[in-house]
Amino acid sequence: MSENWNTRTRLVHGGARRSQYNELSEAIYMTQSFVYDSAEDAEARFIESGPDEFIYARYGNPTVAMFEDRIAALEGAEAAFATASGMAAVSGALTSMLRAGDHVVAARALFGSCLYVLDEVLTRFGVEVSFVDGADLGQWKAALREDTKAVFFETIANPTLEVIDIAAVAELAHQVGATVIVDNVFATPVFSRAVEQGADVVVYSATKHIDGQGRALGGVILGKRDYIRDTVQTYMKHTGGSMSPFTAWIMLKGLETMDLRVRAQAATAHAIADAVQGHPKLARALYAGHGSHPQAQLVRERMGGGGTVLALDLAGGQAAAFRFLDALRIVLISNNLGDAKSIATHPATTTHQRLTDAQCAALGITPGLVRLSVGIEDTDDLLADVMQALDAA
Ligand SMILES: *Cc1c(COP(=O)(O)O)cnc(C)c1O
Repeated sequence: MSENWNTRTRLVHGGARRSQYNELSEAIYMTQSFVYDSAEDAEARFIESGPDEFIYARYGNPTVAMFEDRIAALEGAEAAFATASGMAAVSGALTSMLRAGDHVVAARALFGSCLYVLDEVLTRFGVEVSFVDGADLGQWKAALREDTKAVFFETIANPTLEVIDIAAVAELAHQVGATVIVDNVFATPVFSRAVEQGADVVVYSATKHIDGQGRALGGVILGKRDYIRDTVQTYMKHTGGSMSPFTAWIMLKGLETMDLRVRAQAATAHAIADAVQGHPKLARALYAGHGSHPQAQLVRERMGGGGTVLALDLAGGQAAAFRFLDALRIVLISNNLGDAKSIATHPATTTHQRLTDAQCAALGITPGLVRLSVGIEDTDDLLADVMQALDAA
């Protein structure tokens, strides 16, 4: 692959491997094992396999390798390992490198399952986890210790869209030698420059913008070659969270159009953020890419785009939020995000239902809050749908 290709070219051609048939579209190698020419060949491959030599689909597969190489080229990471879901990526990135007695610092505002992994799984195996307010650098500084092995945070928090400064946290974390692991779903692979800003490890739920069409669960862990090959791959190939070849093919084809989709989604998200500013039915309207966001300057400097999700806080609380959701005609009520279809979610009663009222309040998840994931439908149609639903709320 050419080093100086720009993003869209990388997303279409990066990582391509062609069989003897020279197919145009990437082949799905729907096989879990591979045949060796001789016993000696099998022995040699188990000692060391080259980039185009495979053993078993839990370890690697040609279609999966195409996806890994394509996303690594996009992200500017040395290597990638594809996983069965976003959560397999989050848990694999952490558990592959941690052991009992280690210390981790994490931002408090996390996707529910990420919180479960940090707060319940890691601690059960003797890892100590400290939680901080991710936007407060003083709290990171106070929590980091000589024995801190990793820090973990979501670049843009779900669903309150608070932005964490990767470069600033990485600088502090690297002073104690901690590995910086970033869940970058809300920033999207299109606007991410996480590796450039000092993240050692970037994880994605490929279920979101990478597929972008609501078809399959998947995930990916990106980082330095030694970490991915020696730490992550070794752990994942034995514990079983690898991506299937069919899923990898869906994700590969998703990457081809991802830049076009996500930029169109972000442009519409910005138009909606503009249109709803100061709307009498709203207590708050947040979009990370809009000038009204409290951290707009950080987003401008570090990302060049605010992603595809808005947070609309209805002044009339849960009842108004439900009226808004039920009045939407194009936007669907669901809990995916980053999809071609626009989707609205009421976090307090669905994705964040497990949290206590006090935890919700601490995270800014009010009863009126609606998360709006903007799709690729026509901008004017979506604007009209959101505005009429606000009227109805
Ligand atoms: C969806 C999501 C995950 C989990 O991904 P799955 O593919 O559903 O396992 C992790 N982190 C964030 C921020 C997410 O939005």
